[in-house]
Amino acid sequence: MAEKSVGENMLVRKIEEGTVIDHIPDWKAETVEKVLRLDRLARMQADTSVAILQNVKSGSLGRKDIVKIDRWLVDEKDADILCLIFPKITINYVNDWKAAKYKPKVPDVIEGRIRCPELLCITNAEREPVVPRFLTLKRDRMLQCYYCDSLLEFDAVPDHVRS
Ligand SMILES: [Zn+2]
Repeated sequence: MAEKSVGENMLVRKIEEGTVIDHIPDWKAETVEKVLRLDRLARMQADTSVAILQNVKSGSLGRKDIVKIDRWLVDEKDADILCLIFPKITINYVNDWKAAKYKPKVPDVIEGRIRCPELLCITNAEREPVVPRFLTLKRDRMLQCYYCDSLLEFDAVPDHVRS
């Protein structure tokens, strides 16, 4: 275990303030970036930096990815969406070098963040679209559109994140 923490510290320094997303399955950091729409950071906050560690040795998972975002707090609702895709993910909010864990949970309802796969759904209307709203069918690992009943698998969520 000691060897593990030394290895991680060598790879990237600790952050003073921001978010550390840990226990991402190995080589899946890119999916996390996509769901969190980290490309927005380029437009929003010039002093935010992102460190992506891939295939890091981990006691519990064998190998894992870690995403460290300096000076940006991931919204808890976005963390919950990540948890649909990667149930073992952990979120640490860092403030003044101290980390506080946030345990993401699968929400019952998701509003606004995901596009309905049905193009004819009123949430995809060109004029006056309705805010998308999904119910989570946890046992089936699917989302169901509140308006048109279309189904979306949890694993397909990264391709339907609204920009
Ligand atoms: Zn729909």
